[in-house]
Amino acid sequence: MYNYSFARTGIDAAYLAFDIPLEKTKEAVESLKLLHVGGFNVTMPCKTAVAGCVDALSPAAELIGACNTVTVGEDGKLTGHNTDGIGFVRNLAEHGVAISGKKLVVLGAGGAATAICAQAALDGAAEIAIFNRKDEFYPRGEQNVEKLRKAVPHCKVSITPLEDEAALAAAVGRCDILVNATKVGMKPLEAETLIDPKLLRPELVVADTVYNPKETRLICDAKAAGCAAAVGGIGMLLWQGVAAFKLFTGKDMPAQEVLEKFF
Ligand code: NAD
Repeated sequence: MYNYSFARTGIDAAYLAFDIPLEKTKEAVESLKLLHVGGFNVTMPCKTAVAGCVDALSPAAELIGACNTVTVGEDGKLTGHNTDGIGFVRNLAEHGVAISGKKLVVLGAGGAATAICAQAALDGAAEIAIFNRKDEFYPRGEQNVEKLRKAVPHCKVSITPLEDEAALAAAVGRCDILVNATKVGMKPLEAETLIDPKLLRPELVVADTVYNPKETRLICDAKAAGCAAAVGGIGMLLWQGVAAFKLFTGKDMPAQEVLEKFF
């Protein structure tokens, strides 16, 4: 998507992929600096490590503690950004859903959920109720709640074990936007959903981060229930790249063309 967009916007640049071991992250970042690259993306598992190697972090990357996009200033200084949450919010906007003032239920406390919660809070969400199973991600969810409460006090944030079915049903019953940011629904869990279809109602917006398959069981259930919007994860992937392209080049990616050609 980047190389295509460079060509389409007349930018003389090439996007290359390098596979590096996590423990070599700092050296890789130093090497990219030495080579005067124009910017770079970072994917799992290096997103957190890179956040510790840059000179500055955007407010979202600071809150998330991880970055997926690094820009290089004229002075050579590196700034880490996180466009995953931006991509999620933009994808909702593209489906006519604004996040400001809304009550969210977010399933998950991993990388995607952390980015979404931070961006939603920064963009004015009124309430975020996080649900995660009692696994190794739960303490991270608790830390996210602490951080968000301090940094974005207008947003009411909580975390509850996913195993508390009554609390989940009550929270879904009173929220505006339900988000799945877990691996449930993604291959090989494509037959599964964490939400009883009986909880889905026409006023509710349902969004999934999972894009493989494009229509998860949750999204199919939301459509069947006549939900206000049922938004799959593929657009989040597109729009996080669009946001990174803008940060790198100052130009707009030809998003519609990219969507049709590559997604
Ligand atoms: P992660 O490993 O950081 O977090 C995984 C999360 O899933 C945790 O909250 C964990 O508790 C939960 N989980 C895993 N198995 C579960 C189960 N059986 N029941 C309940 N909860 C379970 O992963 P991540 O990077 O945050 O990715 C999460 C999802 O988001 C994946 O499906 C990924 O494809 C998707 N994602 C999409 C985009 C996009 O651009 N659309 C970007 C990043 C991630």
